[in-house]
Amino acid sequence: MQHADVAILGAGMVGVSAALHLQTRGRDVVLIDRHGAAGLETSFGNAGLIERASISPYLFPRDPWKLLRYAFNLLPEAHYHLSALPHIAPWLWRYHQESAPERAAKHEAALRPLIERCLDEHEALIELAGAGELLRKTGWIKLYRSEKTLKAGLAEAERLRAFGLRVDALDARALAEREPELSNVLGAAHYLDTASVADPSRLAQAFADLFVARGGRFLIGDARGFEAAQDGRWSVPTNDSPLLARDLVVALGPWSDAIFRPLGYDMPLAVKRGYHMHYAAMGGARLAHPVLDADHGYVLAPMTQGIRLTTGAEFARPDAPPTPVQLDQTEPIARALFPLGERLDARPWLGRRPCLPDMLPVIGKAPRHAGLWFDFGHQHHGFTLGPVTGRLLAELMTGEEPFTDPAPYRPDRF
Ligand SMILES: Cc1cc2nc3c(=O)[nH]c(=O)nc-3n(C[C@H](O)[C@H](O)[C@H](O)COP(=O)(O)OP(=O)(O)OC[C@H]3O[C@@H](n4cnc5c(N)ncnc54)[C@H](O)[C@@H]3O)c2cc1C
Repeated sequence: MQHADVAILGAGMVGVSAALHLQTRGRDVVLIDRHGAAGLETSFGNAGLIERASISPYLFPRDPWKLLRYAFNLLPEAHYHLSALPHIAPWLWRYHQESAPERAAKHEAALRPLIERCLDEHEALIELAGAGELLRKTGWIKLYRSEKTLKAGLAEAERLRAFGLRVDALDARALAEREPELSNVLGAAHYLDTASVADPSRLAQAFADLFVARGGRFLIGDARGFEAAQDGRWSVPTNDSPLLARDLVVALGPWSDAIFRPLGYDMPLAVKRGYHMHYAAMGGARLAHPVLDADHGYVLAPMTQGIRLTTGAEFARPDAPPTPVQLDQTEPIARALFPLGERLDARPWLGRRPCLPDMLPVIGKAPRHAGLWFDFGHQHHGFTLGPVTGRLLAELMTGEEPFTDPAPYRPDRF
């Protein structure tokens, strides 16, 4: 039998960041994951953006014409499995309701304190982990193909400037100076405050390495075998020996329901699936920034493994077989945008964004179980928000004054 103050279930960006913050506050922490390394699931395959400029949650679309085209799976930015509709429709309806303008404004205000600190918190951990070579403070560029989308994009940029964000509006010529290899773009907005990393999984592992170097333990185990022990502590099986901990943190991202459901919590966690593929660049072409093709809903990001194309959201049962149709739809569009060479991965990567209908994470103490804490549901922003929500969770667990009001993220809000 092993002992610890805190067992953290899940070593994605969210779990490793929470582990570092609790360790800094003097807690004896054990990270438990089914893999022997950190950042091998959702935190592996994302676009690597630390989205300091994304102060708005991703909302359910309200434009009826767009919705009609989504309904027929005509737009590559979203896709759904018809067979999954009975299963996901109630959640989609809640998502739609939470995206109504008044509620959306409330959720945006709730997300903002986290987004405003996301890069500072990342940089602090990146520096401690000695992983500065992975960080690129080059911003990201949203590309627009039509007058209509360009106008809307630039209006959004103007709105965000009011929040102190720095955005350069670029016409095709100005864009060509920053990204000479792109074609067929009318204009762009370059969000300068966003940062990105060249390998998200390696950064999660660098954080885990720092945690272990400072005396933390990383164990392999299946979190689903957890039990409430007799003495009020939690026991988790590991490949070493069972671990007994006073506090249990659920940071299993899209798999967090494997713990909260058996304990009787009915939180509406769903997943928005997404895919990636790496490509070679033809003739030594270089992409200097991550770019969003806003009209077609995919991102191209330069990564250590190649140019990574990440897709928009797919609504399906979480464990349904992969159907990377969005990748097949966007690949020819991306090839016309940038000189992509051959595919570099044997098959597309599939990831699952863990989402609540209000697009806010769940952070805080479980209402009905002593020593149970939640830190999951970071939706499209989990790589961005891991460090800052790790801080908030650690502050709540140690009784420190939290840096922001945690009420919007409380587990009993549904
Ligand atoms: C295509 C795509 C692009 C994205 N782009 C971005 C982006 O640019 N920027 C951004 O901020 N976010 C992005 N995201 C979202 C982001 O990747 C996620 O929000 C984030 O990775 C979630 O992190 P996590 O630690 O909560 O989950 P995960 O990284 O999935 O970690 C959960 C961990 O739990 C472990 N686990 C699961 N079940 C068990 C079990 N039974 N026992 C033990 N361990 C278990 C897993 O092995 C895993 O390590 C993107 C997502 C996708 C899909």
